[in-house]
Amino acid sequence: MSEQTDVIVLGGGPAGYAAAFKAADLGLTVTLVEKAENPGGVCLYRGCIPSKALLHVAKLIHEAREAEACGVSFGEPSIDLDKLRQFKDQVVNKLTGGLGQLTKARAITYVRGTGVMRSSNDVLVTLADGTESEHRAAHVILATGSAPVRIPNVSIDDGRVMDSTGALALADIPKSLLVVGGGYIGLEMGSVYAALGSKVTVVEMTDGLLPGADRDLVAVLEKRIRTQFHEILLSTKVNSVKALKTKLKVSLEDARSSSTQSFDRVLVAVGRRPNTAGIGLENTKVTLNKRGFAEVNGQQRTQDAAVFAIGDIAGEPMLAHKGSHEGIVAAEVIAGHTTAFEANAIPGVVFTDPELAWCGVTEDEANRRGLNTVISRFPWAASGRATTLDRNDGLTKLIVDAKSERVLGVGICGVGAGEMIAEGVLAVEMAATVSDLKLSIHAHPTLSETVMEAAELVHGPSTHVFRPAR
Ligand code: NAD
Repeated sequence: MSEQTDVIVLGGGPAGYAAAFKAADLGLTVTLVEKAENPGGVCLYRGCIPSKALLHVAKLIHEAREAEACGVSFGEPSIDLDKLRQFKDQVVNKLTGGLGQLTKARAITYVRGTGVMRSSNDVLVTLADGTESEHRAAHVILATGSAPVRIPNVSIDDGRVMDSTGALALADIPKSLLVVGGGYIGLEMGSVYAALGSKVTVVEMTDGLLPGADRDLVAVLEKRIRTQFHEILLSTKVNSVKALKTKLKVSLEDARSSSTQSFDRVLVAVGRRPNTAGIGLENTKVTLNKRGFAEVNGQQRTQDAAVFAIGDIAGEPMLAHKGSHEGIVAAEVIAGHTTAFEANAIPGVVFTDPELAWCGVTEDEANRRGLNTVISRFPWAASGRATTLDRNDGLTKLIVDAKSERVLGVGICGVGAGEMIAEGVLAVEMAATVSDLKLSIHAHPTLSETVMEAAELVHGPSTHVFRPAR
């Protein structure tokens, strides 16, 4: 006999648990199927949260080191790796445990195991002890997430070649680390290891770090991380990794030459792919697009009337907050509300030092789409607050519609950019104009003034940047 609820959510990451919680809050009975002891998914157990705990420590190390310039010296840090791991694990346990409590408080049926679709309405779960349980619902929400992409000849079966999970486990602090991929994970985890003392080399296949991010912002970040990393090799690929007894021998190739270098560890961070295999999609009418994501409409419905898909499995950007938002939409649609996923600005944040954040239309995208825009750049050299922090390395950038002066996109690279981008998201979503931004009083001295002054610069000089009027 199957246990029946209104909704089954397959996968308990930020997309899945947000959907389950919302569905329960709207009065639906919910079954949440998840392998781990508590909800949280990759983000909480092996991604966003543990990496941010480690990046916090990296920031402390940098700040302590740089305090010397202000007359305060702390000496070289001594790192207790066990304690650092404990700190990270405590953060994870606190948050995932909290989600477990929230699941219970909402009377959600939590089934710990691996679920496979048997039909559009039936899920068979293999529990941790190997037994099986059957579950049935009017609607199923797929939230199975994504997994790291592996590269042949590089992702070899040797513990020293890691994906992001291995890197977060922090087995040791290798003397030398090769990071394959100059994207989100490569730069964030590379920053952690560099701060802890590893000699980090980044190899990126394309001709720039963070492809897809704004080039002006990347330039600010790159200037600083080149001082933290041993080497950043662009337009370079890794052909193979060979495991020797004491080292990993890596063969690298760029347009002109090939070379061999040795490293203690290698981190492969070349993207993620949606988890669509092995979940029984063949027993449903769910279809996949060319890139392997589940095809959904604006209400997160798949081609199967009973099945919804949210989060990484449902398309890019593969970001937790986008997945959570989609989860809430799916739950509301199932509860009969008229709603759709209509975000104009999904923020992206790279938690490096400095942070790099953006939302809405980028300058490149505006050019590709032939939009008539004005681009405003406010350099943090002119920010009082940035100067008090001894961190003038920053840039705030607005992409503005030339005619209506609506803010179409915001990009920030600098300390705290990840928090500040929220103002940009609100501006884009609320269809704010540059006048709205410049007439809103921003507290002095704060970094947020850079957004206000970037808006002022659209019309001519700002208080702290002189430029002839347009
Ligand atoms: P990514 O897409 O951000 O970066 C992968 C990089 O690897 C790209 O720059 C790509 O050009 C490069 N690359 C691909 N193949 C290569 C090869 N053979 N050799 C060298 N370089 C190669 O992917 P990621 O860093 O693995 O992260 C995966 C996903 O996780 C991201 O898409 C992101 O959505 C998510 N994530 C987000 C955050 C955050 O929000 N702060 C942090 C970590 C991860």
